[in-house]
Amino acid sequence: MSLILELAYLYPKLLNIYGDRGNVLTLSFRCQARGINLNVTAISPNEDLQGKNFDIFFMGGGQDQQQVLVSNDLQMKKKELTDLIEDNVVFLAVCGGYQLLGKYYRAQDGSEIPGIDALDLYTIAGNKRMIGNVLCKEIESKNTIVGFENHSGKTYPGSSVKPFAKIIRGSGNNGEDGFEGIRYKNVFGTYLHGALLPKNPHLADKLIRLALERKGLKMPEVILNDELEELAHRKTINIF
Ligand code: GLN
Repeated sequence: MSLILELAYLYPKLLNIYGDRGNVLTLSFRCQARGINLNVTAISPNEDLQGKNFDIFFMGGGQDQQQVLVSNDLQMKKKELTDLIEDNVVFLAVCGGYQLLGKYYRAQDGSEIPGIDALDLYTIAGNKRMIGNVLCKEIESKNTIVGFENHSGKTYPGSSVKPFAKIIRGSGNNGEDGFEGIRYKNVFGTYLHGALLPKNPHLADKLIRLALERKGLKMPEVILNDELEELAHRKTINIF
């Protein structure tokens, strides 16, 4: 029986300026290398989820103005996405996409871009951008995680979500509490561009494994040659 996973790629034409598409390419490559068919469906504004049973959702980062367009459309998908998150669907949300899963993103001009309130967090634009390479340690696995951040938003998680990683170098959620990103059920919220997954193959594999396990399936025991990925990971660590 061939293994199939369905991935919904939310708003690829709007949330597309930080190279986060590399995360979808990495998941596709690492699934294919294991004989798993990853079907990727792009979802644009005014398109519904086509009644597909998606196993993984991905939403990348974007500038404030694109976030307004995405927010308007997300409101129409709010209940469906919230129900899926509560049903342990795997969801990777990066930066602007991450912010919009929370209550709101308050921009510099004081205007509030509504999120879908699926995650207990809110974001307020600070007056300086947090830009640069980030080194942190995933709390669950203790693995190092590397990436690149570029945001003015300062995200403040509430008690219903857990931090994703502990900052070693960089700003992370808000540059104040020493944490980066959040975990809630199978949602991974993060500020890390890069793209994130090519340089953190263990995290990519975790998302694939969680999506399979949610369907009662096991991750195929195939060892991939991660020489390049590990080199990219180490090179980023050595920057500091
Ligand atoms: N516009 C948001 C901010 O500046 C998100 C930026 C991003 O997605 N990199 O915080």
